[in-house]
Amino acid sequence: MKFELAPLPYSKQALLPHLSEETLGFHYEKHHQTYLNNLKNLLQGKPEADASLEEIVKTSSGALFNNAAQVWNHDFYWKSMKPQGGGEPTGKLAQAIVRDFQSFAEFSAQFASAAIAHFGSGWAWLVSEKGSLKIVTTGNADTPLKQGLQCLLTCDVWEHAYYVDYRNLRAKYVEAFLKHLANWEFACAQFE
Ligand code: MN
Repeated sequence: MKFELAPLPYSKQALLPHLSEETLGFHYEKHHQTYLNNLKNLLQGKPEADASLEEIVKTSSGALFNNAAQVWNHDFYWKSMKPQGGGEPTGKLAQAIVRDFQSFAEFSAQFASAAIAHFGSGWAWLVSEKGSLKIVTTGNADTPLKQGLQCLLTCDVWEHAYYVDYRNLRAKYVEAFLKHLANWEFACAQFE
């Protein structure tokens, strides 16, 4: 099986004090790894085993989709954060945010509202639809990749992403994500 867990782009202590080593350890080594293990088991002997992860996400359904999409979503989530992140994007993405949300502050408020209001497990995303920016949320494993949207940044709002550090306070976690963790260099690179 060619699918392996991509290394975390930073150490498990790198996002302190906003996300603990315990959270990153469990999230990456247990949750993300389990989705990958399930994916490999489901692909055993199947023709899809030779497809790329993106192709599997776009064409599969049921358990295969759920596990493939969660592997892809988590890869994208780790890249959506960095130590000393936050701040604001630059260049073309900064201009598009002002064009489509009036201001970066307004974008941040709308992204936080969407992430907090999403009921149950899922993801908040900044996506581009043919160059036009949108904030969307997806439930469980669902991903904008499936709908052909270009993903720019994501925040995991499953409880396993924040419960150790923030308990039930998803809003505090989303605030920390936007202020201290969001990797705008990564989002800008996706948009270029
Ligand atoms: Mn997760």
